[in-house]
Amino acid sequence: MSAFKTIDDLDTRGKRVLVRADLNVPMRDGKVSDATRIDRSLATIRDLTETGAKVIVISHFGRPKGQRSPELSLKPIAAALAEAAGQDVAFAADCIGPDAEHVIDGMADGDLALLENLRFHGAEEKNDMEFAGKLAELADIYVDDAFSCAHRAHASTEAITHLLPSAAGRLMQSELVALTDALENPDRPVAAVVGGAKISTKMEVLGHLASKVDQLIIGGGMANTFLHAQGVNVGASLCEADMADQALAVMDAAAATGCEVVLPVDATFAKEFKEGAASQSGPVNMVPADGMILDVGPASIDDLMQRLATCKTVVWNGPLGAFEISPFDTGTNAVAREAARLTKEGALLSVAGGGDTVAALANAGVADAFSYVSTAGGAFLEWLEGKTLPGVAALKSAD
Ligand code: AMP
Repeated sequence: MSAFKTIDDLDTRGKRVLVRADLNVPMRDGKVSDATRIDRSLATIRDLTETGAKVIVISHFGRPKGQRSPELSLKPIAAALAEAAGQDVAFAADCIGPDAEHVIDGMADGDLALLENLRFHGAEEKNDMEFAGKLAELADIYVDDAFSCAHRAHASTEAITHLLPSAAGRLMQSELVALTDALENPDRPVAAVVGGAKISTKMEVLGHLASKVDQLIIGGGMANTFLHAQGVNVGASLCEADMADQALAVMDAAAATGCEVVLPVDATFAKEFKEGAASQSGPVNMVPADGMILDVGPASIDDLMQRLATCKTVVWNGPLGAFEISPFDTGTNAVAREAARLTKEGALLSVAGGGDTVAALANAGVADAFSYVSTAGGAFLEWLEGKTLPGVAALKSAD
């Protein structure tokens, strides 16, 4: 299937397996307030414990910048992990050295342990080989299940792959397969939906996608900049006038590769950016001087739904409007629900992620209905930009 190893390729029975997870979960009052990341790490943990491996989980948590700080200890997460995994979790007060060795020496086959925050050691973020060596001493095999950290070359994601037999965990594997199917080797036609506030934060995403997809559908605040660049008066809308040339350059680059850039034909606009603000819809060239475009309009929604029906693959990043405020979530909801419906029918592969996209799809009630929704924020965006992710590259070249 792939150029990287998975846990199916390694004999993990009775072995000490170091699993790099992303347990950087949101906490409130010392308790885990959203266990999504813990739950997503369970597939790998279970597959390994069931084959009798000793599973040693490592992760970063927050930004302690190389200092021990009690409020950034992974200890409370050990309890949440134990509850989610349905088994005891031994916790070591350091991720290297005697504390970690002592806990690991006490493990039986199928046991689970969690080591303290990797970033209590400054060497972690420096991709330090000596620190990676100390981590490697603790285990026989390394499994990377932290796609969300793969855009950083750190000791626990990159250096360590040079020291231990390495493989992708289940979450990493599913993420890589989804991303490859969506952009590297997609069923065509493939569309990209790119929304969100500003074009300036997504120039590289737009440039890369223009070279990969058949239709580049632009919505959200960034569409205003494209419209402005084409001479449309967008009134008081969010618009980065100084990015007009870059917007035109994206359109030229797309035209050169035969990619169609799709802009909204109509919009929903209001004078105030607030819940229930009086709004109206109309063609994009009819926006009043004091009006703000806050969503794509009904004709654009129809157009986008029809376009999706002709596509086999869609990659989605960013909302089509100010989805946090009703009714400006209408466009995002309608188009996301259509993508979900087509996915359910088996007619469309839908991959989404980055920034506010997960929240926007959750608001539309379809976060579980896409083929794959990446929760990997920065790593997903860097992949959309066409960058090589060091954590992924390391797995590809590791023996
Ligand atoms: P991003 O993080 O770049 O994906 O941007 C997401 C943000 O873009 C959300 O907070 C939306 O409210 C905002 N947004 C989307 N469309 C518009 C718009 N037409 N005007 C202002 N903000 C928008």
